[in-house]
Parts: sequence; structure tokens; C-alpha cells
Amino acid sequence: MKRVELLSPAGDLERLKIACIYGADAIYIGGQDYSLRANANNFSIAEIKEGCEFAHKLGKKVYLTLNIVFHNEDIDGVYDYIKDVVDAGIDAFIVSDLFLVDYIKNNFKVEVHLSTQLSISNKESVKFLKTRKVDRVVLAREVGRDDIKEIIDETGMDIEVFIHGAMCTFVSGRCVLSNYFTNRDSNRGGCAQICRFSLDINDEENFSMAVKDLNMSKFIKDMISIGIRSFKIEGRMRSPFYLAVVLSSYRRIIDAVYSNTLTDDILDKEMKILSRVSNRENSSHFYMKEADLSDQYYSGRQEVSNQDYLGIVLDKNDNIYTIRQRNYFKLGDDVEIITPNMDIINIKINNLYNDKMEPIEVANQADSKLFIKLDIDIPKFSMIRVPYL
Ligand code: SF4
Repeated sequence: MKRVELLSPAGDLERLKIACIYGADAIYIGGQDYSLRANANNFSIAEIKEGCEFAHKLGKKVYLTLNIVFHNEDIDGVYDYIKDVVDAGIDAFIVSDLFLVDYIKNNFKVEVHLSTQLSISNKESVKFLKTRKVDRVVLAREVGRDDIKEIIDETGMDIEVFIHGAMCTFVSGRCVLSNYFTNRDSNRGGCAQICRFSLDINDEENFSMAVKDLNMSKFIKDMISIGIRSFKIEGRMRSPFYLAVVLSSYRRIIDAVYSNTLTDDILDKEMKILSRVSNRENSSHFYMKEADLSDQYYSGRQEVSNQDYLGIVLDKNDNIYTIRQRNYFKLGDDVEIITPNMDIINIKINNLYNDKMEPIEVANQADSKLFIKLDIDIPKFSMIRVPYL
């Protein structure tokens, strides 16, 4: 039986590379057209090619989303665009419109995955999609565990489900709140996340439709046991740091399941890490029960900006590491280093140098280049964060 795939989002080339080296098996990206995240940087054809080459060298796959709701005016150019993307080396398209399924399967040797935007929630739909040669279905986020298992058992289809990140308050792909409030079409890449707004009821009360984020870490073992093929992380606009922390945490959980070494202690540790990196509360939503009041905020929602990411290792010369700084830290601070090898190393900051190699006491300029001497060996792209454990 194939091992489950850990599927990461990436909003640009830097994130794609971080995802590849921090444990993703595959990465999904958006092109500059036809993709649902208009605010992500999104990839040009040249960047798709570079991203595919980078990923393929590491044995990873790259999927491209073509999952807007197509109107007539969106169709011009899509056929040429698909050919360009196939030539750039993409492994699969994630589509939400059935006319694209036949076109891609009849003309190219790449996989077609049905987007969650189509809200596929039952076995008969999946059986129909199998007759159309669809390779994988991304189920609606609202499908529970027993239905997922029945769909897999009765159809044999490759099934992908979301395991982590933001949820829609309304059935994904069926919401037009953003259109009404801001004239931005949620289903053509422009969602303004109206459901997250805090709406005043009167001078003292406010109301929000926001739901908690999804976090399936404690169900990973069960999800593997029922035969889910791919675990998807939400968030093409998430930071490289968020991706590195979330991916490496799920990587450790998944690997521990397969090596039969997953303990409650390991799981507790990973759940602590995952809840720390997110700035919202989380829940497993529809997996074991119907979502209810406990999965919602309604009021009193607080999002604390996350200052945990202190810097990334850009280069190394003997024991001198070049760091790009992100948030404030100083001499004497205890910090954690996370590495692409999935290690977590605790150190104290004993020295710091500016870009002229002059000693400094604080790192307080985001995006500045710094140097640190370390007597440990850590790889490029390791990240420094405040201690989580
Ligand atoms: S407004 Fe909220 S529920 Fe609607 S599409 Fe945007 S994120 Fe989803």
C-alpha cells in the first residue's frame, strides 16, 4: 500500500523550496491565472518550471490549481495555458470545472485532481468521476470519517483531505459573502474573508461568523488506517516559517505512525508545537461529529500576531552562519533551531554580529543580515525560533 502523501501549499518559489526540504511529498501552487488565491504572489510559467525542476530533483511532485469558478470570459486562453504548464513539468492539475477534466485527460499525460471547490461529499459522485478518468478527488471539508472510509472502500479512488489550516464558514466553493460585501468574488480568487470580520451588534457586543482552524494531528493514525491517500495543508499565503513548522511536525507524526513509534508523549509535543505556530484556536470540525458551537468563535475572537520566527540560516562558512533576521532577539536569549532534518536544537545566543562583522547586542531590524558563530553543525535553511518546548 502506498504511503500517505503530505501535501503543502506554496505561494511563491521560496515557499516551494522550503516546503520541499521541510518534509512535504508534494506541493500545490497557483499560476498567475485561474487560481483561487489572487493575493498570493503566484507563479509565472518560468517559475513553475524552476519549481518543478527543484521539486523533481528531490523526488517531490508539483500540482497546479485551476480552480476558479469559470465564467465564459475566463475560458479564452485556458487551453494554451494548460499546454504551457504541462511543458513546464507540472505533475497534476487541481480543477473545479468538469470541462477541464476531459480536455486534460484527452490531450496530456498528467493527473487530474478534483478540487474541494466542487464540494464532492458522496460515493456516487466519486464513482462518476472515476468514469471520467479523474485520478484523485479532494473531498469537501465537511465530510466525516465514516463517509470518507465508505467512499474509499467502495470506489478505490485516491482521496485527498485537508488536515490543517483555515476553514470556510460556508461550504467551500459555495460562498458569495465576499462578493456582496466587497465586490470581490470568493470563487474567482478574491475572497476578502468576510466571515472573519468582527461585526458590531451594539456599543458593547460584537459578532463574528469565524470558525476555528482545522487541526487533525491527533487523528493522523486513524486517517492513515482508513486509506486516505493525501493529507493537505491549507494556506498558499502562509509564511515560510509557518510551513516549515507545520510540515515538519506532521512529517514527524506520519513517520512515527509508519514506524509504529507514535506515543501519547510525542503526539502531545507535536500538538503543542502546532497550536503555538497558529494564532487561532483549532478543532477537528466534521471528522468525528457534525461541527457545532464548539468549533465556532461567534464573539470574543482574538488573534495574536506571531513573533516566534527569529531568523533563517542563509549560508555557512566554517562555524560562522549568515542569518536573515525576522523578529527581535538579543544576546543571552534561549532559542530553538529547527532543521530540514526534522531536528529541534536548543541553544543560547552567545554572540551576534552585524553585516560588517561588528559585535552587536540585539537583532532588531527585520530582514537585515546578521552573523552568528555556532559550535554545532546545522544545514542551510534551518530556522531560529523562540523556544516551543
Ligand atoms: S468569506 Fe469566509 S466562508 Fe466565505 S469564501 Fe471567504 S473564507 Fe470562505
